[in-house]
This record gives sequence, C-alpha cells and structure tokens, in this order.
Amino acid sequence: MISAPRLGFLKPEMQSPEWARSQYTSFDRSAAETREEVTNFLYSLVQEDVTKPDHITPESLALSLWLLRAVNDNSLFSRFSVAARDIYQHMIESFNPDMVEDASTSLGMRVERVEGKMFRIRALDFIRSNTHLSGTRYRLAFQDIKEGWVYLEKSVLSKVLREHFVARIKEFYDSISSAKAIEILGDFRGLVQYIGDQWTAIKGKRTTDLGSVDQSLFPPCIKEYLVEVRDGVNLPHMARFTLVSFLHKIGMQNPEIMALFKTAPDFNQRITEYQVDHVTGQISGTEYSPPKCEVLRSNHVCYWGDDKLCHQEWLRHPLQYYAVKKKSNSRKASSQSS
Ligand code: SF4
Repeated sequence: MISAPRLGFLKPEMQSPEWARSQYTSFDRSAAETREEVTNFLYSLVQEDVTKPDHITPESLALSLWLLRAVNDNSLFSRFSVAARDIYQHMIESFNPDMVEDASTSLGMRVERVEGKMFRIRALDFIRSNTHLSGTRYRLAFQDIKEGWVYLEKSVLSKVLREHFVARIKEFYDSISSAKAIEILGDFRGLVQYIGDQWTAIKGKRTTDLGSVDQSLFPPCIKEYLVEVRDGVNLPHMARFTLVSFLHKIGMQNPEIMALFKTAPDFNQRITEYQVDHVTGQISGTEYSPPKCEVLRSNHVCYWGDDKLCHQEWLRHPLQYYAVKKKSNSRKASSQSS
C-alpha cells in the first residue's frame, strides 16, 4: 500500500529554478532520497538491467522533469511519461476509495465516490482525458451519464486519471526553460550528459524498419509519432490518423503500416486493420490526406522544436515538408555526381 504523503502531485513552486537548485544541493535527508530516486528512475529509462521504480513522489517526479528538460529530447520525455504514467496508474489502483478522491484532487480533477465501488467525474474532464484511450470502454457514448457527471468503475477511472496525469506532467515539462534547466545543473551535469548519450545510442539502434522509405526526409511530427508508437505510447487519434495517411501518401503499403502499430499497448489486429484500410481508402473509396500543420498545432501534436524548415512561413503541410526535403536531397545528389 502506498503511504499517504506520496499522494500529492506537482506543486507550483516546483517549477521555479530555485526549488530545483535546492534539491540538487540540499543536505536534507529527503532531498538526498529524492536525488537517489531520480537517478535510479532515469537510469532505468536507458539501461535494461535497472528496474523501474514502483512508486513516485511529487518531488522525484518534478526533479526528473527538470533533468529531462536539460537533456531536452522529446522522445526521451515520451519514454519517461509512459513509465511514470504506468506507475501512477498502479498507485491509483492500489489506493482505497478515499485515497483515490484525494489523489485526484491533488491532480486538479474532481472525483467523487458514489455508491458501491463507483466514482463520478465531470463529463468535460472525462472528454479531455479519454482521447489517448482506445476502445469502446472509454468512449463517452458508452458511459452512464447523469446531470453532467460520468459514472465510472475504478478500473476505467484509473486509466482516465493516468491520462490526465500525463497531460499535467507535459504542461510542467513544457513550462521549464531548457536553458535554465542546463544552467542550474551543477554536479548533475555528468548525469544529464550520460543519460543523453545513452539515449542517443539507443535511438540509433532502434530505428523502425520502414523498408525503402527514407525516414531522414520525415518532418519532426512524423518522427515523433513513430518513436512514440515504437515505445508503446498510445497515440492520440489525430496523430494516428496523420501517421497512417502520411505513410500511405508517400507510398507505404497497408501491411507495412499495420506492422508499425504492433507494439502499441492497445494493439488489436482487427481494429487496426479496419482503421488503416479506412484512412487509405480501401473501405470507403476516400483516401484521406494528413491534416495541415495549423490543425496539428492546434491539437498539440506538432513537434517542430527548432526545425528550420517547419518554421518557414510558407510551410503548411507535413507532405510539403517531405517533398521539399526530397527535392533538396536529389539536387544535392545530382550536383555531387556531376
Ligand atoms: S510544422 Fe508541420 S511538418 Fe513541422 S512538425 Fe509541425 S506539423 Fe509537422
């Protein structure tokens, strides 16, 4: 059973560099424990032989996010958020019902316990948090709704809460300046360097096999979706749709596209086949195109970072990115051969 002090979530003061700096340097016993937990957690992300923790405190969560911001690699953050999400879900599932209410409140979501083993949350909170969950069990149309409340069993609630948790840690991560995170590292510079190097080596070895398709031409959004799929993250609907339609448009065959999703935690052969066939026009006859950058940005699934091409004013579409890169690569190749 998880002890009560572990129930809190990230506090606003943890976003300040002074807080992070004090955790790095304090002689306080709890700060030393936090440093040890964080170091182990980060090692477990990049080393097969280090076991992932089974709980996470608000302090170790916040400090991990500061260190990850210093590494500043979206795919490593994705890997961390999946690991932290699963720990959080496990914690929620092991809580007694009163603790679930408290844990949800500290996360900023109102959850009320109702008769029996049921809970209720506001319908808007449910809709905001279920977009990454696949399966009819998590769709609003299949829920028991009364007066703006959605009634849920604990097993469904824990999944909804974990997605809310992921959104909150992403907000926290995004709010930290990477330059500031690097500036205050002090003795932790070596750890960040090691984690970053290990992760680069892992990424180099684990490229997804896309046959004859040249991944170096892909825009950052598509690269990010591929990394997330490979790491077992359930992509939001918009990202999944974009990935499938993009790969189809650049010439990948449906069975190859299907194979990419086999590592997803909610993989279902029949449903994936249906979705891929639907997007690529095998079922309805309508071949869909990926959405424009503007739409992807407003849905928070654009990962342009500091990519120069993405920041060109005229760049409107992921397929345009691919076409521009392809053209410039063939120009380079022909000038080298002449
Ligand atoms: S700007 Fe467009 S192409 Fe670039 S990452 Fe964002 S959505 Fe993708």
